[in-house]
Formats: sequence, structure tokens, C-alpha cells
Amino acid sequence: LTQLFRPLDMLGWVYRTIRQGLIDMADMFRLMDTPVEVEDRPGAPALVVRRPVVTFDNVDFGYEEDRQILHKLSFEAPAGATVALVGPSGAGKSTIGRLLFRFYDPSAGRILIDGQDIREVTQASLRAHIGIVPQDSVLFNDTLGYNIAYGRDDATAEQIERAARDAAVLPLVELLPQGFDTEVGERGLKLSGGEKQRVAIARTLLKDPPILLLDEATSALDSRTEQDILATLKRVSADRTTIAIAHRLSTIADADIINVMDAGRIVESGSHFDLLRRDGLYAEMWNRQLSEETEVLAAE
Ligand code: ADP
Ligand code: MG
Repeated sequence: LTQLFRPLDMLGWVYRTIRQGLIDMADMFRLMDTPVEVEDRPGAPALVVRRPVVTFDNVDFGYEEDRQILHKLSFEAPAGATVALVGPSGAGKSTIGRLLFRFYDPSAGRILIDGQDIREVTQASLRAHIGIVPQDSVLFNDTLGYNIAYGRDDATAEQIERAARDAAVLPLVELLPQGFDTEVGERGLKLSGGEKQRVAIARTLLKDPPILLLDEATSALDSRTEQDILATLKRVSADRTTIAIAHRLSTIADADIINVMDAGRIVESGSHFDLLRRDGLYAEMWNRQLSEETEVLAAE
């Protein structure tokens, strides 16, 4: 009997991993015939994005009926802007990303992209417009090239190379005798956390989405690698609408708008300097992290 259930466990595991990690593998649901919680409305049109504005309008949400996680949450990410979501662990930041990708629907309120309610458009078109870089990118047990081109079967060798160059993967590729044909993953070449993030960024660049969601994209990296990846991400996000979820405030201090979340609500919003002047939760978190970093530096 346990043998029988193993494949199901496996599917459940993959499904949870994808959802929790927000890995951009929407196609895998269809591929694996996994049950999905949200379905396309019959005859739903494709999302059409002229100006990639993202709007959360009074969104309520809970994973379980008796426990609400987001409370009347409203914020806007203007076209081309970088909007940060910060706040204590468990505040509901990643949940916002999961709702934007429509792994779940809000129980009240609306999420709009360029004025279109995301429940009214096909999920495939929605997900085609959003690139995600999660905290830990998981690679397929396949070649480096496959991992970069995933989701873009039509990508040419030149396009793959350009994405690899822009994400600074190329220096790594050039060291490998088999280049893009090098097998990576469990049975192949083990990549460091930073290298995996670069591959994920290259994949996102190839997808070329107008909206970018970075969920603690650099938080699993050591601070030197983090600085490198941040510089890459800054270039990548320059002409895209970017929602950046971060634990380390120093990584998002230059965002156009910083939304500070606590227990499923946005409690403060503004630029870094607005929020410091306000002397509230953000200022408190900033000062605490500053002193922690000073301690680390002193210890080194
Ligand atoms: P953050 O990213 O700010 O740390 P999350 O959005 O991941 O927070 O989680 C917000 C709350 O939702 C937490 O209390 C968490 O335990 C809960 N939560 C997250 N995922 C699930 C899930 N799949 N089922 C039930 N509760 C969940
Ligand atoms: Mg999170």
C-alpha cells in the first residue's frame, strides 16, 4: 500500500514545493495532471499588458477558513517602479506573491494588472507576464542550457547566450568544457546558491516579463555574493515593474515605494527616508539591522 501512495506523495511534494517556492513552472501542473485550486473562467481572454501596473485592492485572504492572513490589503506598483514589501516573518509577504501568481484567489477584494482583474484572464497569460526569482531556485536535473531556456522552447542559442551574459552566468559557462550542455543538479554539476540564482535570473531574462517578483531572492546568499546578485537584479529590474520582498532592508532601501507589513496589513508606506523620518516600525527594523551588521563587521 505504501508503494501505491508514493507517487501521490511525490506529486503533493512537488506541488507544495512549487507553490511555496513560487517556482515558475506553471506548465508542470498541466503536465503532471495535478489538481489546481483555481480554474480559468470559461472563455476567459488573455491578459493584455500595455502598462504593467499591479494593484491590490482591499484584498482579504486566508489559507484556512478560520484564519485570515491578509486584511483589506491595498497597494499599487506603478509601471516600471520597484515596490518593496518588508516586515517580520509571517507577515504575509510571500502570500502576496502567491496571490499575484494566482495559486489562490482572495476571499474579498481584487488584484488587477493594467486594470484587468486577474481572475478574469487565463492563468497561462497571467503567468507569462510575471517572472519570479525565489529565495532558493531549484534547477532541473538537466543541462545548464535547458535550465536557462525552460519555458521558452523557441529560444535560439544566441538568446540563451545573451540571457546568460546579462545574468553573469557566462563566466561560469566558459569554464566548463561542455558549456551549456553541462549536466547540472543532483547527478550533475553542483552549483552554489549564487550560481543557481544567476541561472534563475537568466531564465527570467529569457522570459522577458514586464513584471518581476523577487521573493527574498538574495537572502540565502553570503553578503559578498548577495552584493553581486543585487547588482545584476538591479539591471534586470530597471525597466520592469518589480515587487521585491526582502528581509534585509539594506537590499531594498532604494526602492521607489517601501510597504511595511505586519500581521497581514500594510502599516507604513513611503521611501526609505520618509520611513526613517516617521520613526515607526521601519525605522526600528532599520536600526536593529544596522547594529546587527555592525556587530558582524566588528566580529570579522
Ligand atoms: P512571510 O513571507 O511574510 O514570512 P507568508 O506569506 O509566507 O509570510 O505567511 C503568512 C502566514 O501564512 C504565516 O502565518 C504562515 O504560517 C501562513 N501560511 C503560509 N503558507 C501557508 C499554507 N500553505 N497553509 C496555511 N498557512 C500558511
Ligand atoms: Mg516569505
